Amino acid sequence: MTENKENIKKSRMYARQQLIDGWDQEIVSKGCIMIVGVGALGCEIAKDFALMGIGKLVLVDLDTIETSNLSRQMLFKPGDEGRPKAEVAAERLKDMNPFLKVDFYFEKLQKLPMSVYEECDVIIAALDNFNARLDLNKICLRMKKPMVEGGTVGFEGHVQIVIPKDSALEYKNREIEIENIVETRMWEFDNPEYLDAQKEIEQLEYLIERLKQEKLEPFRRLVRKQVEAEFDNKYAEDVLNITPCYRCLVPIPPADDKLIAACTLKGLPRNRNHCVIKAEVIFEKEYGFKPDMNVDDDVVKLLALAQKELAELRNRVFNENVPEEKLETLTPEEIKEWKENIKETFGEDYKFEEMENILGNKIAAIQSVSSIISSIQSQEALKLLFRLHGRNIGPPMDPPYVNYNGVYGQFDHLDIIKREDCLACGDIEGEENVQLVVPFDADIGYIFKAMRIIGHALEPILWMITNPVNKEMYWNPYMSGEFKDPTIKLTTLKIKSNDIIALTPLGKAKVESEIKKYNVVITFM
Ligand SMILES: [Zn+2]
Repeated sequence: MTENKENIKKSRMYARQQLIDGWDQEIVSKGCIMIVGVGALGCEIAKDFALMGIGKLVLVDLDTIETSNLSRQMLFKPGDEGRPKAEVAAERLKDMNPFLKVDFYFEKLQKLPMSVYEECDVIIAALDNFNARLDLNKICLRMKKPMVEGGTVGFEGHVQIVIPKDSALEYKNREIEIENIVETRMWEFDNPEYLDAQKEIEQLEYLIERLKQEKLEPFRRLVRKQVEAEFDNKYAEDVLNITPCYRCLVPIPPADDKLIAACTLKGLPRNRNHCVIKAEVIFEKEYGFKPDMNVDDDVVKLLALAQKELAELRNRVFNENVPEEKLETLTPEEIKEWKENIKETFGEDYKFEEMENILGNKIAAIQSVSSIISSIQSQEALKLLFRLHGRNIGPPMDPPYVNYNGVYGQFDHLDIIKREDCLACGDIEGEENVQLVVPFDADIGYIFKAMRIIGHALEPILWMITNPVNKEMYWNPYMSGEFKDPTIKLTTLKIKSNDIIALTPLGKAKVESEIKKYNVVITFM
């Protein structure tokens, strides 16, 4: 009896969506959606699916709630600060829909057991950084799970659908499917005029067929044989049921923050952001821990350090532009003007929020845009969920990438291209592209240090460094002399900013390393 009442209540809740053509609440109730990142987008998407009556949500986020989240992340409220996002979101979603099952992980997406991914129908990326997106993209490709990726920056945002090969999903065959259903229905109507017309068409077709067989077919067969030979390796991947992946759009991920911090400590700050990053590094050295932006005392100390770096930067630029001999020729007014100009170039004194935004590598975000982007993600994930269960409430968006510009209220669909040389979904195996930010006086030894900071600890005695274009040797531990000098400067080797160098394994590493070649873009800070 109670179970019956529950069911009636459930059907009442979902009554309006049952009116949608092709809807099947059973599919939604048995579905499982994973949301990776429970921030502005993730909260909205989780709310959408909780309200629509999804069977299960899996929430993954390794962050805790901060005050600055409360302007957008609607599952959190004042007083939640410091608690894990995934846990609080799970509680609030269950309040919203008591029938919902929620698993949550206060954990890195890379550390989740693959069985968690396996259980989900569709995976939604609602992340705020490139590296996490790239890792999730890789996992989804491996697990053959469709992914709906989204992101926002200020008044702009995008959504991308990634359908991996062999995910059992139809991406571009909507027309064929619809035509088949239409054809079947036509026959079911039993209309005599239609049947007569069909009969006449069949007779004509017989005639046409005979002509084709006798006159055209031999020639056609010959041509088809040639086309078939070319087709599979050239076009198949583009027109069949797969999309480009996320990595196809980001062949070289932007440099890691940790690396920029390390580089800043070694080099001289060149802009406003560098000064704050360097201040954080100095703070940690001085006090033995990282400044906590929620502790006023830490903020005050950090502000002083950053302010000092900024003053030094202004001084340095003044001295570079106004050397001694020039200084003698300037009037006090002109000197003042120089200083004012430099001050304007590097900006006013720091405010607390600015430092927090720089150190957290935060990007501009606003609720209005987050809700637009997250709603598109929810809608696309919903269609994919139905498709996975053999039902059609609409094809995935095609092209699979949309950009939204909130300034002009404009949506642009972009026909993105699957890269044959994509390191995640392409033919190339065992290669990796990375960007290293290095100080001006970096040497060969620094490259290995920087690689270690971004998570690729390579033994210098087992890797060779060359110029991939002219094959010039920069480092070869098997040789002696200049090829084995870790203190030789990159500038001495005539390596310029944005040049690419190649790291390849030797000896033991050749056998053991999964990666057989690193293409490294060197960027001088
Ligand atoms: Zn790809």
